[in-house]
Amino acid sequence: MFKILRLGVLKRGVQTRDYPRERGRAFDAFLGLPVVDVEACDRCSRCVSACPVQAITVLPEGIEVSAERCIFCAACAEACKAITMGPEFELAARSREDLRVVYRHG
Ligand code: SF4
Ligand code: SF4
Repeated sequence: MFKILRLGVLKRGVQTRDYPRERGRAFDAFLGLPVVDVEACDRCSRCVSACPVQAITVLPEGIEVSAERCIFCAACAEACKAITMGPEFELAARSREDLRVVYRHG
């Protein structure tokens, strides 16, 4: 049985990545953490109203997205052209503070 499986693998080659050593990239339609283009942001707070889990906060210094709360639904990106769903999927952190991502106004 194992011999047959091993032969199959040898024939097809390895189909997976050696993660995390080999990171790869998210596929095109992937919905990762939202990215805010602060140059295009006028602080209107539509994204705050659109977010169903209160993951976005408009701060004096920029827009904060909480990776702790975000459910990657893309409602903020639908509400505002300054927001796109990014490719980031490695969002583990050692503290809650590290899960706060602030896109700062220049
Ligand atoms: S990111 Fe978009 S919706 Fe949110 S405050 Fe800025 S302009 Fe308004
Ligand atoms: S993707 Fe959804 S949950 Fe995440 S910040 Fe945008 S609206 Fe909120």
